[in-house]
Amino acid sequence: MIRRAVPSLRHVLLERANGGGRSLCFSKAKMSRPVQAQRLEGVDQNIWVEFVKLAATYATVNLGQGFHDFPPPAFLREAFVRAVGGDNHMLHQYTRAFGHPPLVKILAEFFGKLLGQELDPLDNVMVTVGAYQALFCCFQALVDEGDEVIIIEPFFDCYEPMVKMAGGTPVFVPLRPKVLGAGKPMSSADWQLDPAELASKFGERTKALVLNSPNNPLGKVFSREELQLIAELCVKHDVLCTSDEVYEWLVFDGKEHVRIASLPGMWERTISIGSAGKTFSATGWKVGWTVGPPRLLQHLLARELQGKRDRLMRSLEAAGMTPIVPEGTYFLVADVSAFASDVPEAPGSDEPFDSRFAKWMVKNKGLAAIPLSAFYSGPHKNDYGRFIRFCFAKEEATLEAANDILQKWKREKAAP
Ligand code: PMP
Repeated sequence: MIRRAVPSLRHVLLERANGGGRSLCFSKAKMSRPVQAQRLEGVDQNIWVEFVKLAATYATVNLGQGFHDFPPPAFLREAFVRAVGGDNHMLHQYTRAFGHPPLVKILAEFFGKLLGQELDPLDNVMVTVGAYQALFCCFQALVDEGDEVIIIEPFFDCYEPMVKMAGGTPVFVPLRPKVLGAGKPMSSADWQLDPAELASKFGERTKALVLNSPNNPLGKVFSREELQLIAELCVKHDVLCTSDEVYEWLVFDGKEHVRIASLPGMWERTISIGSAGKTFSATGWKVGWTVGPPRLLQHLLARELQGKRDRLMRSLEAAGMTPIVPEGTYFLVADVSAFASDVPEAPGSDEPFDSRFAKWMVKNKGLAAIPLSAFYSGPHKNDYGRFIRFCFAKEEATLEAANDILQKWKREKAAP
């Protein structure tokens, strides 16, 4: 299977160009002119490179990166084996560039029903190398030099560099947590946009808005009312919407995932993006929707994942962290301020507390997770730098091992 999308290659090249790698590529080339394109200034940081390395070195339990450590469902593996092991050797050769005809046909039928649109498989559907490539293509195709693109914080970290790669300017607007009464558990639904603040971001140069619902990292599922507000502003200012819906099937507690493309005036200005990897627990496939009859999509992973979510929340709570209940995705974010005294001070450093905490946790406790500040733009990294994102798409044994670490940690804290 193809594992790397175009932007990943870019990251590798940048790593090398910046001397981070030991490759023969640029580091030995001794070029006198700048290697990196100017528009990439400030986008050469990649949290994943650092945290994947830390996890590989120190972690006993890795709840950092967003992939499953349990097998994809049997029907999916069987379908895969049938396809690659069958007599139709043409399946190993080029197919139609914008998507294998039987696949786009089934996607058009399926999503046409959900969106209330008659979809033409050849015109309305495109298969990409994962949702990542779909995002990359969207920005490259839609954003011109000088265009502004509104990104809601916290956000999946590739949006910012992808917008910049296309020559656009990201404009950030935050989801702000409501102040709740003491002891009241917080839900990702309590993180909301301020309507006036959102409206103030739309202007002459706004070309597009990136929406991610359910949201990585918070697990927030935007309500119909929230989407309506976004939709009205997009329509009023004639702005496009890139709607990243890769977690569309991972929604908990009976919550409804509303597709913004189905709201009035939005179909013609929205690109909805999905991922077979997220839907079918097979992130390594890096394919759009590989298997998509409703029959299969119905018994998705949400129920199983909801149990894992609740379990991890209990473990984190018992250890003294304050989780925010996610309404969707397979991530949850927990407030770790109570652990401030565990982590050595770093005088003179502007590294957010959550990042120092995550590094300290993996090195000292063997538990890997990702700081929330990684999902904020540079100037906003310290705004909510007290949260950690945990991935719960993990098998029972992994969650059990995480629980053991947390329990032991709690006992050590309690000991005089
Ligand atoms: N969008 C979001 C919000 C994601 O979290 C991810 C993967 N972490 C992607 C897109 C990329 O999906 P894919 O693996 O299909 O490229």
